[in-house]
Amino acid sequence: MTWEGMNEAEVIIGIDLGTTQSLVGVVDAGFPILLADGQGSRMTRSVVYYGRDGAAAVVGGEAWRRRVTEGERTVASVKRLIGRRAGDAAMAEGKGGARVAVGSDGSLGVVVDGVWRSPVEVSGEILRHMKEIAEAALEVPVRRAVITVPAYFNDAQRQATKEAGQWAGLQVERILNEPTAAALAFGLDKLGERSRVAVYDLGGGTFDVSILELNEGIFQVLATHGDTQLGGDDADLLLAEWLAGQMDGTGHSAGESPLLTGAGWEAMSPQERGRVLEAAGEAKHGLSFSHEVEVRIPFWRGNLSFVRMVQRSEFEALILPLVERTRGLCRKALVDAGLKPEDLKSVVLVGGSTRIPLVRQVAGGIFGREPDTSQHPDETVALGAVIQAGMLSGALRQMVLLDVTPLSLGIETFGGLMNVILPRNTIIPARAGEMFTNAVTDQPGMRIRVLQGEREMARDNWTLGVFDVDFEKGPKGSARVGVQFEIDADGILTILARDTKTGQDKVVEIRHAAVDVTEAKVEEMISQSVEHAFDDMTERQWAEASTKSRELLDAVSGALRQAGDILDDTERHRITSGAAEVELALEAGDLRRLKAANTTLDAATETLAAVLVERAMEEAMARRGLV
Ligand code: ADP
Ligand code: MG
Repeated sequence: MTWEGMNEAEVIIGIDLGTTQSLVGVVDAGFPILLADGQGSRMTRSVVYYGRDGAAAVVGGEAWRRRVTEGERTVASVKRLIGRRAGDAAMAEGKGGARVAVGSDGSLGVVVDGVWRSPVEVSGEILRHMKEIAEAALEVPVRRAVITVPAYFNDAQRQATKEAGQWAGLQVERILNEPTAAALAFGLDKLGERSRVAVYDLGGGTFDVSILELNEGIFQVLATHGDTQLGGDDADLLLAEWLAGQMDGTGHSAGESPLLTGAGWEAMSPQERGRVLEAAGEAKHGLSFSHEVEVRIPFWRGNLSFVRMVQRSEFEALILPLVERTRGLCRKALVDAGLKPEDLKSVVLVGGSTRIPLVRQVAGGIFGREPDTSQHPDETVALGAVIQAGMLSGALRQMVLLDVTPLSLGIETFGGLMNVILPRNTIIPARAGEMFTNAVTDQPGMRIRVLQGEREMARDNWTLGVFDVDFEKGPKGSARVGVQFEIDADGILTILARDTKTGQDKVVEIRHAAVDVTEAKVEEMISQSVEHAFDDMTERQWAEASTKSRELLDAVSGALRQAGDILDDTERHRITSGAAEVELALEAGDLRRLKAANTTLDAATETLAAVLVERAMEEAMARRGLV
């Protein structure tokens, strides 16, 4: 090795080569980042278009748009074919697009214009495109990469992926399991030895669940299950078919929408289907953040547009069977790993489709806990690949030598409590976040007070800054604002508040305050927190219990209004006297009494809650014409 060569750590990029989307990134100045293409997008459609007369292949959004009119020239979801042979289940998996065929050696590929193209070549085109995005963004040549694959990929599939990288002019330093990458991005390697975690990944075309165990800093896959025919694309299709049914006059189109007859999914041309599918995809995305969206397809018939409101509940009823299919697979994975849900330290959600609230709910139900959704679901696998690449190139090695946060950083939440986001002694650079929502209907926004210190109550900590985030008007719990704390290697704290509904960002930078605290002040803060530990704890518990009481009282009065009629007198009495006791305990300021009263009231409302859920189910079934 030459002297110069030793000075300059060579760039290694990380690539998530997804079935539907691919991403690329690199560790830059000690921090993993994802790179955007010329249009500013960090996600590239994993679609390749082969033009006429040997023109260079087109990759990404442009290719994806052409699939509607020139389906036979576009290749989508090539990941389903890579490393497979004739006779593998994959043969039946074609979902339109270029024709799948068997090569002379028995491997699967596609035929475009009579030319046989191997999945290695098609995936290679995608990888080359990702390499070019990185080169344009970094302005240096890139030669080495880490590429992710599903945990269930066999040797042939891994080998073929590696060859695709070589085809693209990349030296593949490592083939990394997607769940392992996700676990790295969630920072689960910081959990203790032998920690077990579950990674639930619902992407565009596939579902995977993996149980991992941390052994000497390395993740081992204990079990993995999945369904290669289950993902967001299926949700798009279900919604599209349903919308087509609405046009057929079988449903009732509201408002300005004309009732169109004779359409129906089966009768539509590929172009028409493409338009409906696109509208369905957009509506689906919207429904992850709002309870209803308008689907509008302009000039559907002559100058008549198709317009219809779609409720989240309608969409959920359509996809519930789909989402429920993940349940059995998760159970199997747990059984194979010989674990119970309680044995897991963490459950993380990955894949764009886990933005769907119903998916989060079902996943939470399966594992009996609130899953961790703190990372961007469609970016975690890529980020993990980048982190792994950074470790290999040495760009991340400095991490252990770097500073730690001298005091905890967090924000004030309900009841004046300190909510820690980056605990004391976190190694920097670091990043962590949490989701917040509106506590009351039509709440205009929330004030974010950035705090530093070890005390339980916000007022006893130091305020580093204050800023406001606006909410879109909506019912209680509908706003979704992610607050992310990021400290770079220089100790600069940046706070990003993103309204995931409107996509609006607010970024606040707090220079050096995060690490520039004198030793004496740190000592003082810590000794105070020890001194007041007992009082602080009591106060926190009171704040938490009373917040819970208010939520319970609110929910009970709402539920009684909605379904109070079906309760018998004994039950009604249990609930109303339970609520009265909570109010009395609140007034008395008695923590133990309040906790007991909360528990009693919670238990008393079980029947009522069950009835409400049943009603909602019946309504959903009735809408689908099932009862
Ligand atoms: P893959 O790894 O399979 O390529 P991704 O993890 O990128 O896929 O997920 C892509 C899927 O996520 C697509 O089906 C897309 O429609 C879906 N998706 C992205 N954003 C949302 C959203 N806001 N709501 C629902 N689904 C979403
Ligand atoms: Mg994926």
